Order: sequence, then C-alpha cells, then structure tokens
Amino acid sequence: MSMKINETRKYYESMTAQDLCQCDNCQNFYRRISEAYPEVAAFLSGLGVDIEKPHEAWAIEIEPDKLMYPDVQYVVMGSKSDFKETEVSGVKIYLADSYPPTDVDEEHFVIESGPYYLKNEAR
Ligand SMILES: [Zn+2]
Repeated sequence: MSMKINETRKYYESMTAQDLCQCDNCQNFYRRISEAYPEVAAFLSGLGVDIEKPHEAWAIEIEPDKLMYPDVQYVVMGSKSDFKETEVSGVKIYLADSYPPTDVDEEHFVIESGPYYLKNEAR
C-alpha cells in the first residue's frame, strides 16, 4: 500500500483554521463544500483527505451569487503510484502538475479536483 491513508488523515486532523487560507472565497468553500458535494467528500475521505481543508483553492465568479472553483488541491501522503484519476459527481480528481510548497517532509503528492460550483451569499 503506497498511499498512506492513516498518515493523510493525521495530517488533516492536525491542520487548524490558522493553516487555511482566510480569504472570502476559500471561507465560502470550507462552509459549503461538504453539503454540496457529499459524494466527493466521501471519496476524498476514503483517501484520508478532509475536503474542507484544501492546500490551494481559487474561484471565479460566474454569477453574482455563484462561484466556480476550477481546481482545488489536496495533499495526500505516500506515493502517487497507487492513485488513479477518477470522476465523482461531475468532479474530476487527478494528479496536480504544479502547486505551492507543502512544507511536508514525508513522501507525499498533491491531487487536484474540480470544477466545483457553490453558492456565494456572503456579500
Ligand atoms: Zn483563499
């Protein structure tokens, strides 16, 4: 088993709100994603990933009250050799080519997922 699900789970459990981006679009993502995409949340949870704690996310406003998050990134512990691209509820999940530094010393890789469409009623 080269994906380390328990290590991944521990990584997400140890993350606090301080470790996450505080911008409005990201906060909107943390608040709404689990309810809007329960099947994707369950799939990522099977890898040990907490969908509410992305490594990197950004959004495009496609309607005044609707945001699209094209490619939300997550850290996964272990080797990417066992990871297979997939699609869940219209959301593609695949290996990321490039991403911001992770500050993780152990072997890990980064996956990308999207697009996600979420309401944005914060303003
Ligand atoms: Zn942000």
